Amino acid sequence: KKLNIALVGLGRYAGYLAEGLQEAQYCRLAGIVTGTPSKAVDWKKRYNIPDANVYNYQNFDGIKNNKDIDVVYIVLPNSMHKEFAIRTARAGKHVIVEKPMAITAADCEEMIDACKKAGVQMAIGYRLHYEPYNMEMKRLGQEKVFGQVRLVEASLGYKTGDPNEWRLKKALAGGGPLMNVGIYCVQASRYITGEEPLSVTAQFGPITDANLFKEVEASVTWQADFPSGALANCTSTYNCGIDRLYASAENGSFELSPAISYGPFRGKTSKGELHFPETNQQAVQCDEIAKVLLAGKQLPSHITGEEGLKDIKVMQAIYEAACTGKKVSIA
Ligand code: NAD
Repeated sequence: KKLNIALVGLGRYAGYLAEGLQEAQYCRLAGIVTGTPSKAVDWKKRYNIPDANVYNYQNFDGIKNNKDIDVVYIVLPNSMHKEFAIRTARAGKHVIVEKPMAITAADCEEMIDACKKAGVQMAIGYRLHYEPYNMEMKRLGQEKVFGQVRLVEASLGYKTGDPNEWRLKKALAGGGPLMNVGIYCVQASRYITGEEPLSVTAQFGPITDANLFKEVEASVTWQADFPSGALANCTSTYNCGIDRLYASAENGSFELSPAISYGPFRGKTSKGELHFPETNQQAVQCDEIAKVLLAGKQLPSHITGEEGLKDIKVMQAIYEAACTGKKVSIA
């Protein structure tokens, strides 16, 4: 049996997931949830989805009685993740929710509780945990292949341009580039060190375009310190393209650039170049999650709601530090 997945929110990233699911072996695109009737028509045709597996945001809760759907994958604007994760859990379906898990730690906790109560599992769409170059960075750091990591530098950004985009609206996005792409830098600093940051300092960059950045930051740089003494220095920005991950350890260094996009990746260590197969990240991620759920096992801890919550807590501390100009401890 293949695990049957319904996608909620048929925007740009749902398109990548739908294509990835065409290559998946353990799961398939079985249903869609959309607020736009014309998209329902297109997607039904393109992916051969029966009418019975097509929902809108109002009748979505009826999915509870649909035995043909096992998992609901939420690919909506960030602030909508909570509502749909909770409705999915109440419908008795497993949840996959895109990053960032939600826009506040309190929302994440409600989502975790709802899944626990309903006896369903929740995964966050952390695709890089299934991407070979990033998992090599994690191994090199956590196994101390070049000794103790002392410094992680992570930067991710792109130039934004559409003032109407939901990503520039605080109520929908929860924040600017930090929520959208900085989360990957937070994640990378945590999986390379294998530690949780103790405290952060942070600075917002200048508002470079008053029309675009009315509600969210244009860029933010932050520094995090870790129990081992490792330091992370990271930037996320909507002002320019950057995609880079660098770690310096006692006896050498390792880096990727591009590091976090959909590939192709390039990486090297102080000993030489890194070479791994390029994968379809969406297909591999969905397949690996499907294998665990089909076997009735628990999802690995690095992609669960508890993990998503940790990142949101760090990002809330980064915003607090940038707003107050003070060092903020992370509980
Ligand atoms: P998008 O704007 O392309 O799609 C958003 C979808 O939500 C659209 O279908 C839109 O119609 C729908 N929607 C419903 N209510 C809406 C509202 N009030 N305002 C705007 N849109 C509304 O966005 P996207 O790039 O597909 O991002 C969706 C989610 O996926 C986000 O949480 C984002 O962080 C995440 N994402 C993850 C990755 C990844 O690599 N894992 C990549 C891109 C996006």
